[in-house]
Amino acid sequence: MRVYLDIPYEKKDLAMSLGARWSGSTKKWYTFSKPENYIKLSEWILKDNYDVIIATEFIYVIEGTAHCWRCGLPTTVVGLGVGEFEHVFGGADDPHYEYIDECLNPGIEFHLAWAEKESDIPPMLLDYLESHYSLSTSYSKSVGRKYFANHCDHCGTIQGNWFLFMSPQSPLSSLAEKSRLIDRMSALKIKCIPICDNLILNWRVILSPNDYAYLTYGSGESLVFSTNPKTDYVSYKELYKRQHDL
Ligand SMILES: [Zn+2]
Repeated sequence: MRVYLDIPYEKKDLAMSLGARWSGSTKKWYTFSKPENYIKLSEWILKDNYDVIIATEFIYVIEGTAHCWRCGLPTTVVGLGVGEFEHVFGGADDPHYEYIDECLNPGIEFHLAWAEKESDIPPMLLDYLESHYSLSTSYSKSVGRKYFANHCDHCGTIQGNWFLFMSPQSPLSSLAEKSRLIDRMSALKIKCIPICDNLILNWRVILSPNDYAYLTYGSGESLVFSTNPKTDYVSYKELYKRQHDL
């Protein structure tokens, strides 16, 4: 599997000496998915981040229903998700690597995730999210800054990221008590996007011991972004096409 990298022109000789390769068709630098390559090329894997994840094979969109805290009406809320993933952390100066694979249900692993900035979401996925859901970047008074968030379908009020992704009360959280877990998970729609290149993502992943329950009880479906009739797996080039066109 390949991982594509943003390498500035003036750094190309250094990056090449560290093992980066050039893809003429994608017009982008890449490396093969190996821990030693991530460590060597950490400057362009991590950039200014303390840690990133590298999604392998699947990313997800998860859809549930919350009650708006302002108007009380039921509204659709969405999150992101990853299956098995790689984790590079420690900052570019002291990079470390781990592989997160719980192996409880091989092939159907799901962990809830979120991105606080639109630029951290592949443009093709962002287009899909913004055209299907009440998602946009707006100012949160309680947090005191702008972030990418769900909004009520009825009154437009921001539905806070902390509640949706961190609170055990969230309809998207697997941290429910055992007696409520199956009901909560059964109400979720989990859309699986097969990817043929690994993706470096600045997403926060929420790991819980109950994560097995998402795809065991939630209803799964495929979301095929690939424009290649021979495969359901979407490429990096397709997912990031809009960015390249700019
Ligand atoms: Zn509302």
